Amino acid sequence: MTERVLALLDGTLADPEAPLLRADDLGVVRGDGLFETILVIDGVALELEPHLARLARSAAMLDLPEPDLDAWRSCAHTVIDAWRGGREMVLKLVLTRGPEGAGEVTGFATGAPVPASLLAQRRDGIAAVTLTRGIAPDLAGQAPWLLLGAKTLSYAMNMAALRHAATRGGDDVIFTATDGSVLEGPTSTVVIAQGATLRTPPAETGILSGTTQGALFRSAAAAGWHTSVEPIAVDELATADGVWLVSSIRRIARVRTLDGIRLPDAGLTSELGGMLRDAALSVAGR
Ligand code: PLP
Repeated sequence: MTERVLALLDGTLADPEAPLLRADDLGVVRGDGLFETILVIDGVALELEPHLARLARSAAMLDLPEPDLDAWRSCAHTVIDAWRGGREMVLKLVLTRGPEGAGEVTGFATGAPVPASLLAQRRDGIAAVTLTRGIAPDLAGQAPWLLLGAKTLSYAMNMAALRHAATRGGDDVIFTATDGSVLEGPTSTVVIAQGATLRTPPAETGILSGTTQGALFRSAAAAGWHTSVEPIAVDELATADGVWLVSSIRRIARVRTLDGIRLPDAGLTSELGGMLRDAALSVAGR
């Protein structure tokens, strides 16, 4: 039973254990490239089209050639068809600027099991800490070279934030802007509930536009919730009826404590999880 799958962008399967990249690939030496991480359940890639649309947006922000989305769809399905692991698979699409001076991008897709740490977050929730990202919430529009909101391969800072959180007893992070507004997690979108309203911060703050948050809000609106995309002050987290980190593989994880303080729990996590499942069923394979 193979637990890892690798396909190249031309749709051919390759050995996931064999070397793949040239040592001068700009994705490796500069983090100059982008990626998407997609959950596949029972062979269905959730929110595939929103993920592909974001791949194309990220490529445009990096001035990479426009991705051939049909080739990516077919590469994704090659991985899905070759998977012999469990019901859930992490599908990752990676596109780099390619080897230095070659003028040709590198593209591949992998399939792998869901990491145990994210399964634990789904089940047990999260102890989160707030960390500053050190940017003003209106910087993204003024400084496109910062690539805020693109899903680039340059995640070293996000991973460093997670390690820093661990030194403070945290499992995860909620980044804040210099004005004290909420941004996102290193690999997730922040969603809060207040009464009958679900809220999340706007993409204009330079955060990644989340496909999971998009699916959740679509389903929540259909179930009669109000949804609102507007700035959230960090102080509002302490009094919300619930705070969650949502992302493709984690799905939904409740923030139990923030900076060591227990957050209120109105018991909404399973309802929101159900709405995410409904969203997945209603547009399976989109
Ligand atoms: N924000 C960041 C920085 C992320 O890396 C991710 C996903 O990994 C998200 C938000 C959530 O996006 P999605 O729901 O599309 O997985």
